Amino acid sequence: MSEIILDRAAYAHNLAQIAAKVGGAERVFLVAKDNSYGHGCRLCCEEAAKLGFVRAVTRSATEAAQIADLFDEILVLSHIPGGDEDERFCYAVNDLSYFARLKRGLKIYIAADTAMHRNGIAASELDEALRLCKQGGFKLCGFFTHFRASDELSGDFFAQRQNFIEFKRLARQKAAAAGFGNLKFHSSNSAAIERSAGFEDEYVRVGMAQFGYPQFDESLNLRPVLKLYADLISSRVLKKGERVGYGAKFEAPHDMRIGTYDLGYADGLFRYDGEGELALASGQKMLGKMSMDSFCAEFGGEQVCVLDDARAWAKHFGTIEYEILVKLNSNIPRRFQ
Ligand SMILES: *Cc1c(COP(=O)(O)O)cnc(C)c1O
Repeated sequence: MSEIILDRAAYAHNLAQIAAKVGGAERVFLVAKDNSYGHGCRLCCEEAAKLGFVRAVTRSATEAAQIADLFDEILVLSHIPGGDEDERFCYAVNDLSYFARLKRGLKIYIAADTAMHRNGIAASELDEALRLCKQGGFKLCGFFTHFRASDELSGDFFAQRQNFIEFKRLARQKAAAAGFGNLKFHSSNSAAIERSAGFEDEYVRVGMAQFGYPQFDESLNLRPVLKLYADLISSRVLKKGERVGYGAKFEAPHDMRIGTYDLGYADGLFRYDGEGELALASGQKMLGKMSMDSFCAEFGGEQVCVLDDARAWAKHFGTIEYEILVKLNSNIPRRFQ
């Protein structure tokens, strides 16, 4: 059976590097959304909690419920307000309408729109937000923003960071006047952490860096955590000139042993269509078009390592490593080793 093996030492190393850079594990919101970027939410969070991490970010309350026992504070980013929220968690307020739709008295972080225009309130809406916050009896934990271009080498990131500094100044002042205190702020994701020296926010939010993929800062020495393995379903010798798979895409240039392995695009792998060369992490070339539940490759024994660095697949398919990893089906068994 195919499986995902997570490298415990690499994960602990990455987390330690991040904590050291930002000034402590307690300053880190671990982003565990979407099954921890395909790595396995519960598994990774258990590991991180043992290492002293106390905060997490999820996409939904359903995800948050899976790890509720592990962290002191969980922020739910993309909840659609329904009035029946779980009070154990903090909810992102993504626009002003949330105040009327969320259960009264909940813990909230207000998202600040500082240039991305995806979610959040504008600085000009602060007064109204604080009024609604008070009216609904919400417990205001603080404010956060998200950078639109922290992973691009341009001045955009610095300009937006300046917007947030200004937003913070206003928010602190207005919130204090409205009687809200002890507010926390956060803005940096992985790429922003990598390109910053000091952190004036109380917290940071770390997604991809924990899994070992740096955007810039090679000095952090991050190491990929996930390895994906497939098992042999069957094997045969292709005679010179025989063709394998759908559309007969690959033709054997000489007699060769091939293997059919038990992973396909139903497992969340991008569908290799036999164009260009795509080698498995263990070295064998994929042959012909990938099937739904299997692929063919040069024979590599009973088990092959399909992927140990998502950047190779991202390059082949013209996407980012995030997309390669997050699509790995949650049905694939995962374990730390
Ligand atoms: C996904 C996400 C993050 C984490 O981003 P990385 O680049 O993976 O570190 C942080 N904040 C928000 C709001 C996000 O949606």
